Amino acid sequence: MIIPKTSKLNEKQLQEVEAIASDFECSILEIQGRNRCVYAILGDEGREVMFKRIAGLPFIAKVDMIESPYKLMDRRSGLSDHRVRVGKTEVGKDKPFIIAGPCTIDPANPNFYLESAHALKEAGVDALRGGVWKPRTNPYSFQGDNHSLSIILQAREETGLPIDIEVMDSEQLKLALEAKVDVVQVGTRNAQNYRLLKEIGQLTAGSNTAVLLKRGRHMASPNEFIASAEYIVAEGNPNVMLCPRGTTPPLEGYRNHPDESITPLLKNRTWAPVVVDPSHSVGHADFVPACSLAAIAYGADGLCIESHIQPAKGIGDDPKQAILPQKVKELVGACTEVWKNRYLP
Ligand code: PEP
Ligand code: MN
Repeated sequence: MIIPKTSKLNEKQLQEVEAIASDFECSILEIQGRNRCVYAILGDEGREVMFKRIAGLPFIAKVDMIESPYKLMDRRSGLSDHRVRVGKTEVGKDKPFIIAGPCTIDPANPNFYLESAHALKEAGVDALRGGVWKPRTNPYSFQGDNHSLSIILQAREETGLPIDIEVMDSEQLKLALEAKVDVVQVGTRNAQNYRLLKEIGQLTAGSNTAVLLKRGRHMASPNEFIASAEYIVAEGNPNVMLCPRGTTPPLEGYRNHPDESITPLLKNRTWAPVVVDPSHSVGHADFVPACSLAAIAYGADGLCIESHIQPAKGIGDDPKQAILPQKVKELVGACTEVWKNRYLP
């Protein structure tokens, strides 16, 4: 990881660095952080002479060799002071960052989505979620609809809130990026779809688009999760949020094994904000509030909650796990209180 003295290398300086790297069969990747660029060395970077030559250039502040499986996501990396923003809000700055909205947008009843969006704005959330395309276990279940994209865009227009949607393939990614969505969500099923992760990183490199990366359902180790995020950052987009959302096997009675307690481990190993999804973790509306509070107590920077104005009339997960916008409003207040009083390491 190369850190220049200025906020960015000029073309000539970058060429000098690249020339040295190429002598050692390495290449250089520019990563645009919020305040400055850092430069990753791609290839076998364990070459001391290369490090010394680059570090000796007059415009280089330092070159770090990080012994880590995820050298960009690592807390000790040059990105450690990177802050992720969604719209105008810095995630995790001085209060919980709350994303909320229905699981699935019902294209036949756009008003459910739009009314939910307005109620959630009133509840004080920072961003809206809503499934346009859905990964469904059963191939005969509703799979989403392109038309839903225009509904969530309308909600953004009317409320002024940033929007988060899940993409599962290149085609959906391109449509989402054309629509300039603020957050691209990678669902639990694609948490290790490395080609998709790379493509997201490539197509959002240098942009303000954030990525909400959910934890794979089967992922045991925090490192496996962080390595998935590294794929996105290594293509040039450091605006990644890590989203624990429950794993398998489930704790009997819950939908998954609630994993909000992974938060301190992630925060300890990486600089990336952690935004917990309590809805999929527990799978029952009644249990979502406690899981939300626990996540914040564990040090989460935010939450991604399923909420619908009339859960029973929703589709996808909404009838079982969406909470009312009024409940989200209460949680925004309660989570802010926990935030102020929590014990962090
Ligand atoms: C969702 O957010 O509605 C969703 C499908 O989430 P996950 O990928 O965590 O199952
Ligand atoms: Mn859902």
